[in-house]
Amino acid sequence: MFEIVTSILSEGPICDDCLGRQFAKCSTNLTNKQRGQAIRIVKAMLDNTPANISEWEDAYGTCWVCGGLFNNLDSLVERCLEQLHDYEFANFLVGTKLTGRLAENEEILWAESKTTTAEPLKSALNRELGKRIELLTGKQAEFSRPDILLIVDLARDKVEIHANPLFLSGRYLKFVRGLPQTKWPCRECGGKGCTKCNLTGKMYPESVQELMGPHVLSASRGQDAIFHGAGREDIDARMLGNGRPFVLEIRSPHKRRVNLQELEQVINSSQKKIAVSHLAFADHETVVNVKNTPLDKVYRLRVIYEHPIHKEKVKEALKRLEGDIEQTTPQRVVHRRADLKRRKKVYSAELEGDEIIIRCEGGLYVKELISGDSDRTTPSLSSLLGVNAKVEELDVLQVGGGL
Ligand SMILES: [Zn+2]
Ligand SMILES: [Zn+2]
Repeated sequence: MFEIVTSILSEGPICDDCLGRQFAKCSTNLTNKQRGQAIRIVKAMLDNTPANISEWEDAYGTCWVCGGLFNNLDSLVERCLEQLHDYEFANFLVGTKLTGRLAENEEILWAESKTTTAEPLKSALNRELGKRIELLTGKQAEFSRPDILLIVDLARDKVEIHANPLFLSGRYLKFVRGLPQTKWPCRECGGKGCTKCNLTGKMYPESVQELMGPHVLSASRGQDAIFHGAGREDIDARMLGNGRPFVLEIRSPHKRRVNLQELEQVINSSQKKIAVSHLAFADHETVVNVKNTPLDKVYRLRVIYEHPIHKEKVKEALKRLEGDIEQTTPQRVVHRRADLKRRKKVYSAELEGDEIIIRCEGGLYVKELISGDSDRTTPSLSSLLGVNAKVEELDVLQVGGGL
């Protein structure tokens, strides 16, 4: 070991941190600085020379490996705290980008000294900065999905801050028809704005997402809110009953401890088209669950028939609709969905007054269950009646939650 020490010390002035971290894998419960100092003491004792522990830098000059970084951590920490000042967070992580020069110095040192016990400069810096920030903020460093990522970019002499998304889950109700779930870019211009879309760049002036988005962003002081729905109802369908689950992914939030009750109230009192409920804090896994868990549905349909038809005949046909349905992706959506054949269950189909109530498995296209979609859905109400039938009005009464 002392051969390596001698070789390292002969390369030029080196700070205790950089000296110590070449032996970071030797012993535990020591800081690299303590390792460096211990090596210097033992070396001085063996050589019987003055040890100059505390003022080595004055005595020998600036560390050639880190350029004095480890002795100037406080100024970097201060710049990190300045950036953190405007953010609410429970935990954080520091990442450092080295200059080419620093990375090169490290390579030279390793090549010359042949040390095999070193800790890289980058990870030592990250840890030392993290320790100091923990102490000053009372917040914990966190390695998987920290609220805040601090990037100390030494090459550009900048400290950058990235706030990871804030996830809010909830359920929404939609009381009107003709409202899409998310913003829908104009088909003609792709969102740039044209005469077809009145320069809005959109197919519809509003969406569920846009009606809640601004309130969510102002409460979280975020940059952007991405909407993840548990499926979506047709634009012309209302979403009633217990609502449809969704997750909002809020990018770059400054505030995380959002008052959710207040946010619900603000959204719901700002307009009458949608309402949100059950707002709760969630995480990225909730997005996957919400998007990928097929949920059973209850629909209420108003149907029109090509010819007048007796209610008893409709009731009889609906009974026969219960069971397995074979459905090929409907013609109206096949341009944007895979052309697949699927088998879905109708649990019950009943007439209530003039309206039909369908309880079915998630993923069944209910409009085609009525129309038959040129025999792409079988059986269908149209095929069972021998009369063309079509959904005129559609409401979703329940999404998931046990039927
Ligand atoms: Zn150093
Ligand atoms: Zn347009």
